[in-house]
Amino acid sequence: MIPVSEPLLDEQASKYVHECMQTNWISSEGRFIQEFESQWANYCGMEHGVAVSNGTTALQVAVACLGLEPGDEIIMPSFTIISCALAAVEVGALPVLVDSDPRTWCMAVDQIEEKITPRTRSIMPVHMYGHPVDMDPILELARKYNLIVIEDAAEAHGAEYKGRKIGGLGDLSCFSFYANKIITTGEGGMVLARNADHAEKLRSLRNLSFRKDRRFYHTELGHNYRLTNLQAAIGVAQVEQIENHLAKKRWMGKLYTEKLKHLPQISLPVEEPWAKNVYWMYGLVLTDDVPYDAEEFARRLKNEGVDTRPFFVGMHEQPVFQQKGMFIGERYPVAERLARRGLYLPSGLTITEAQIETVSAAVKKVLEQN
Ligand SMILES: *Cc1c(COP(=O)(O)O)cnc(C)c1O
Repeated sequence: MIPVSEPLLDEQASKYVHECMQTNWISSEGRFIQEFESQWANYCGMEHGVAVSNGTTALQVAVACLGLEPGDEIIMPSFTIISCALAAVEVGALPVLVDSDPRTWCMAVDQIEEKITPRTRSIMPVHMYGHPVDMDPILELARKYNLIVIEDAAEAHGAEYKGRKIGGLGDLSCFSFYANKIITTGEGGMVLARNADHAEKLRSLRNLSFRKDRRFYHTELGHNYRLTNLQAAIGVAQVEQIENHLAKKRWMGKLYTEKLKHLPQISLPVEEPWAKNVYWMYGLVLTDDVPYDAEEFARRLKNEGVDTRPFFVGMHEQPVFQQKGMFIGERYPVAERLARRGLYLPSGLTITEAQIETVSAAVKKVLEQN
């Protein structure tokens, strides 16, 4: 079975990790942490980088550093990972949802303004599967209504919006370096911040809110979300390789598109004229002509030896939120369609041309069977 996703590690990563072992710098102190933070912030065009334990805790501290009041609102897409909504709920804020754009699968930016209320504090765009969100309308609304923009950039390292790197467009941006992301530290994450006050608050929240003046005297509740120097060592080696990873993903994306674009039963990832898509995962969505859903499609592909992963299920359809009385009666037709009819194909950094050919042939065979 062809792996759905696989990291690409190199000799340099081993060398850096070995250096940590030999020098005993294995906790969250050590040279690689700061190097990783400043290299990644610099790459994305942000001032400050704060490395944390994963992408979910990155979102959590990014939201926490805003100091929201219970009942404050954060606008986000329904079609995303639960980490986004969790980050809001954990500080007593309300996730307010919008639907998705049927082409890019990113949040429908034309639906944001109607959801803004006096309690709105922030907008959280999520760059989906490698394609950037249309950011200009969001940045304009943020200026107009004085809102903080938190980018969830966990799926789009190196993607560009109008020639600018994503993760460098909002006030804060969150990355994951989980093993299936474009660059990885195994588990890991980072928040990038434009302003120094946010960065300082983030550093404090990540490290139990120890005070600089009196260490074990606390005036705020923090967390232990520290990344280790061992993980950051891998991260530094990965940043050195990012252009190779991006080239591989874009090659993969274009090759899949070339092989699949003639099939009328599926819609494929797009690249809008203002976007550089990095094809984190190569998704596809069944059109309404196909008489079964993505779950059945995945089963049929598996019979052909091709493994896949389902798309996200929208936040408004999550039992855990409905049980709390959230999103009752709300409908987001595009998100619902993506959840039922979307999946992604093997997209790992080690995929070969022959494997892409095998997968594409299986997709074609299955779709032409009915
Ligand atoms: C992977 C991912 C996260 C969470 O990252 P973890 O490191 O797994 O906690 C957050 N947002 C999006 C959009 C992701 O794809």
